[in-house]
Amino acid sequence: MQKRFLVFGAHPDDPDLMFGGAALKLIKAGHAVKFVSVTNGCAGHHILSEQELIPRRYQEAQASAEILGLEEYQIMNNPDGRLENTLKNREDITRIIREFLPDVVITHRLCDYHPDHRITSQLVLDTSFLLRVPHFCPEAPVPPKNPVFAHSFDTFTDPRPVRMDAFVDISDCIEEKYRLVDCHKSQFYEWLPWVDLDEKNFSAEGWSWEEKMAFIDKHWGWRFKIQASMTNGRSEKYAEIFEYSPYGRKASQEEFQALFDL
Ligand SMILES: [Zn+2]
Repeated sequence: MQKRFLVFGAHPDDPDLMFGGAALKLIKAGHAVKFVSVTNGCAGHHILSEQELIPRRYQEAQASAEILGLEEYQIMNNPDGRLENTLKNREDITRIIREFLPDVVITHRLCDYHPDHRITSQLVLDTSFLLRVPHFCPEAPVPPKNPVFAHSFDTFTDPRPVRMDAFVDISDCIEEKYRLVDCHKSQFYEWLPWVDLDEKNFSAEGWSWEEKMAFIDKHWGWRFKIQASMTNGRSEKYAEIFEYSPYGRKASQEEFQALFDL
């Protein structure tokens, strides 16, 4: 039976990092995936203006959606770096979940470093009960069953490290996952080298795909290798792991892993 996955990241590129490999495999197996960026990504550049960046990041997300075969890569019109936990956002996210009818909703954890990531997580978790309340957003009918909620990987240890409750081995599609990353050129070849790698005059102009892939693997691949190392000593080289949230539909450990199995 087809399973449906809805991923809420704060910025266009977060869902690709959180769930890109799993999405590639699940979609090929006939399941449905939708990505949502809760902000428009307008703050993620040191040169381009916000007005220049919004359409560029939208196009980058659509390019990734095309490779993946996503149902949709939706970009909500909240300003990057200024996301707020408003009633409107809670209602909008409730409607998105009710309309897509996911089996699983995936988002950041509440202890993430970035305010937009934390608020995205809070907004999504805040819908977990309201989804079942008919008088909340009455124009969008209450789904027949509540989804299971899950968190994606991060490296934060306070108050506790992320727990590996389910995983998808992405070793056999890591190059394809890097093709998704490669779509977000304004981020991985422009903004992130400037802000995170302290490369103030960085350029990937003229690089071959092999050079780009090696660059992505060097600077971001460790995230997926750490996740592989969390899968009980299995030999997968790259993985995406997921933590169960008790806020949505209840699932045993076995049921939770089975949701991510092809
Ligand atoms: Zn982000």
